[in-house]
Amino acid sequence: MGTRKNQSSLTPAERAAFVAAVKALKASGAYDVFVTQHRTAFLAGPNDPAHGGPAFLPWHREYLRRFERALAGIDPTVSIPYWDWTVDRTAAASLWGPDFMGGNGTGADQRVTTGPFAFSTGEWSLTVRDPGDLTTFLTRAFGSMGALPTQQTVNAAKAVVPYDTAPWNANSSNNGSFRNRLEGVVHNPGHMWVGGSMMAMSSPNDPVFWLHHCNIDRLWAEWQREHPEQSYLPPSGTPGVVAGHALDDPMPPWNNESTPPTPRSVLDHHTLGYTYDNEPVSPQALPLTIDAPPVTASIGGAGEVDVFSFVVSSSGRYTIATEGTTDVVMGLYGPNDMTTLLVEDDDSGAGSNAQIARELAPGTYYARVRHYSGSSTGDYRILVTRAAGPSAPPTLQINGPAVQGSIGTVNERDLYGFRVTAPGTYTIETAGNTDCVLRLFGPETPTNLVAEDDDSGPGANSRIVANLEPGTYFAEVQHYSPTGTGSYSISVRS
Ligand code: ZN
Ligand code: ZN
Repeated sequence: MGTRKNQSSLTPAERAAFVAAVKALKASGAYDVFVTQHRTAFLAGPNDPAHGGPAFLPWHREYLRRFERALAGIDPTVSIPYWDWTVDRTAAASLWGPDFMGGNGTGADQRVTTGPFAFSTGEWSLTVRDPGDLTTFLTRAFGSMGALPTQQTVNAAKAVVPYDTAPWNANSSNNGSFRNRLEGVVHNPGHMWVGGSMMAMSSPNDPVFWLHHCNIDRLWAEWQREHPEQSYLPPSGTPGVVAGHALDDPMPPWNNESTPPTPRSVLDHHTLGYTYDNEPVSPQALPLTIDAPPVTASIGGAGEVDVFSFVVSSSGRYTIATEGTTDVVMGLYGPNDMTTLLVEDDDSGAGSNAQIARELAPGTYYARVRHYSGSSTGDYRILVTRAAGPSAPPTLQINGPAVQGSIGTVNERDLYGFRVTAPGTYTIETAGNTDCVLRLFGPETPTNLVAEDDDSGPGANSRIVANLEPGTYFAEVQHYSPTGTGSYSISVRS
């Protein structure tokens, strides 16, 4: 997989290889095809598939990847480097050296006269230009149109969620659209600070375009990693969205290809075959065995995220819980996908532990555990248990014999189903010496809570009396103490 590096860390040989590959594409005419695609997108005006809308980031991700593949066709060692302008903010940065991008424009015509892309080299004349623009040489005017984004500006943009919002264009709120904030407040100033050719619809005429957009793409990837619960917006079929910008829209100008790229197809940059040199090594998931003793783990560093995996082979109710005195937060992801969040929990377990109980279909699931405080560390234990009994909950017969049950492991939750055929008042209760908590769910779904009771029955037993319409209901039994076990019986009467 190709690694996109910070341009400031490239060796002289890597800089030379990038420049040589870019110039080879220019000589072959392939480079100008890319410039034309960018200009064509802008010329579509309100129907621009690449700017001023949700697909701004996916479109440029696809565009850069295609350019990068073209470079690799010249020299397979070459990847697009990124320009982190929060650090390299002046004309003195090595980025603008005579062996790399060349320097600022000079004179009244802002002409770039140094480096490999100076017109005087005879190898860099601008043949694809904006309508009416006759300038055939590269131009720059550093800083004349405003400042580069700061780290503070970048951080504030990366904190914005969701990805985008109505009206899905340049008028989307900068506080409700990460995309518009990044595009307008972080990306545009990069073009403007360089000035000259970078201000045009044909801005890829300046090779620094690729390094600038590579940094924008990197920031999108960081935002995706920092907000795993946020997905691309909008979904297809959302009214008022320009063609090419919804999740499953084919993106022009590639929309006539047999498998055209869509925003969805580029969401995970790793699947496109590249990574960034500052990405944390993706954590190796530690396998957990269902119903095995707890595994001891540790948030050893501030901000650390531990990832665990477990394989569900038969549908049923599973509980993933942490133990100990560290206040951890746990997210459950899957099935078979580390990035699809099912549910997150902070304190449902004992003390400040996390606990997630959920019906799970077969597949591989992932639990991501972090400290509640981004600056704290600590040890904890984690375990996965499967609720006793077959996946279809045992059925209680109304007015039939009581069913014997048992809380065999800590945190176990037993689920029972019963079918109400006539509306009326029903009593669900436990019996025995175990202090049970009873929850009633339904109708039809085991997630809609109707009532909960601890001690309304004889002794420490629970009893729920409810008026129920016909339907299937679910009674869930749990020990009052998160560390308690014991047997009980349960019955339903009309
Ligand atoms: Zn663009
Ligand atoms: Zn741009």
